[in-house]
Amino acid sequence: MIAIEKDSALVWENCLLIIKQHISEKNFETWFKPILPVSLNAEILTIQVPSQFFYEWLEEHYLHVLKKAILSELGDNGRLEYSIIVDKGNGKSGSLALNFPGKKISGYKNEILNRLETQVEVNQYEVNRYKTNLNANYTFDNFIEGECNRLTRSAGLAIANKPGTTAFNPLTIYGAVGLGKTHLIQAIGNKILSENPTKKVLYVTSEKFVNHFMESVRTGSLQDFSSYYLGVDVLIIDDIQFLSGKERTQEMFFKIFNELHQSQRQIIMTSDCPVKDLKGMEERLLSRFKWGLNADMQQPDFETKMAIIQQKMDYEGVLIPQSVVEYIAQTVDTNIRELEGVVIALIAQSSLNKKEIDLDLAKTTIQSIVSDISLEINIEFIQKSVCEYFNISVEDMKSKSRKKELVIPRQVGIYIAKNYTTLSLKTIGLYYGGRDHSTVIHSVESVEDMMVTDKKFRAQMVELQKRMKLKNPING
Ligand code: ADP
Ligand code: MG
Repeated sequence: MIAIEKDSALVWENCLLIIKQHISEKNFETWFKPILPVSLNAEILTIQVPSQFFYEWLEEHYLHVLKKAILSELGDNGRLEYSIIVDKGNGKSGSLALNFPGKKISGYKNEILNRLETQVEVNQYEVNRYKTNLNANYTFDNFIEGECNRLTRSAGLAIANKPGTTAFNPLTIYGAVGLGKTHLIQAIGNKILSENPTKKVLYVTSEKFVNHFMESVRTGSLQDFSSYYLGVDVLIIDDIQFLSGKERTQEMFFKIFNELHQSQRQIIMTSDCPVKDLKGMEERLLSRFKWGLNADMQQPDFETKMAIIQQKMDYEGVLIPQSVVEYIAQTVDTNIRELEGVVIALIAQSSLNKKEIDLDLAKTTIQSIVSDISLEINIEFIQKSVCEYFNISVEDMKSKSRKKELVIPRQVGIYIAKNYTTLSLKTIGLYYGGRDHSTVIHSVESVEDMMVTDKKFRAQMVELQKRMKLKNPING
């Protein structure tokens, strides 16, 4: 494919066609409509997005589909670059109620771009041969303190000031998704580094740790693996629930943990539940985790939510009425990630439709976005819940077997994935033992039929929906 001959608008239009197939219409409207193609330079397509957060949101939620589209349009060397420009509207309607007089707007843009560059730089910053993996945007300064995180935050601060030598070693922070665990542990890492630039601070997700370990087993480089982790002063490991059931990785982690701990090096972990409730973990590992401090992140209270919304709006340079801030804080009661999603969707909507942010816009945005975000539940969660309910194993669910007691749960799982996620038929098929898209369609139709013809089955589906806390009722 010769990219030079194409123009950016055409390439982007084709990318959009691909992207559209993989995400819901609402999300497409919210996150892709406001993007403008800017230029195409060899294999680099530059697109313009309306804010820093917008860019982060795309990278976090749509990287995969963006990548797919770009590679398919521009070939294997295709790349995407972002240009972040805040739309200042047409002055009169003041679409984005910017908190700055006209001439400062460009300064503001520059500030955002600088911030972006800093982030990229720091991500690549290496301490000796260590890549810290820390995201410089997560700091204590922009971590709002509230009732919900006060103790955990102050434990984190104590550690940041004296890593390895407080009683909080290891520090394990637990809590539901989107409550600020990753933000806080990265803030600790960033603070330690900024005060002691020679310390080796390493942030790693458990998933990455597991993959790294398996790769070392495969290539016979376990020695390198352990000396890599044993060489750090501060090991920050995110989402340790992911280690569950991975016995060999746990064994290795046990050794690393002991050595680091004995030599007073700091270990910081997060988990989606209290240590005592972690499943599929070796007892000796759990008892180590209990040594230090187990601290939780709670649901944010009203005041904290208000402060977070305000901070986000200030950061984006947007002014909104206090009543709207209150309304959002009152209405979004799930987690902080969702709160941020609402704020950013609101800014995007306002910029796109050239409307000021008012209560009406907030209401419609929340209605569409919150339920939409909640719909995007994870396919593994669906499989696990359905298998638990029908009392079969996930392996059996994905197997080739045509036994009735497996076929029905499999079809139910596929049906829920189709209706409650934005995954494509093809992807859903892949998750269910590599089945093709016609099987997926057939499963969905069978479940729909059974719900009409079989009362008992329908009752089971309703019960399942309740257990899984699916937002919208299953429709028959
Ligand atoms: P978790 O790791 O618990 O799932 P994250 O740390 O990823 O949650 O937080 C989700 C989002 O909410 C992030 O963008 C984070 O910056 C933001 N956030 C969470 N807690 C706070 C807080 N106290 N102050 C400001 N932003 C926060
Ligand atoms: Mg996290």
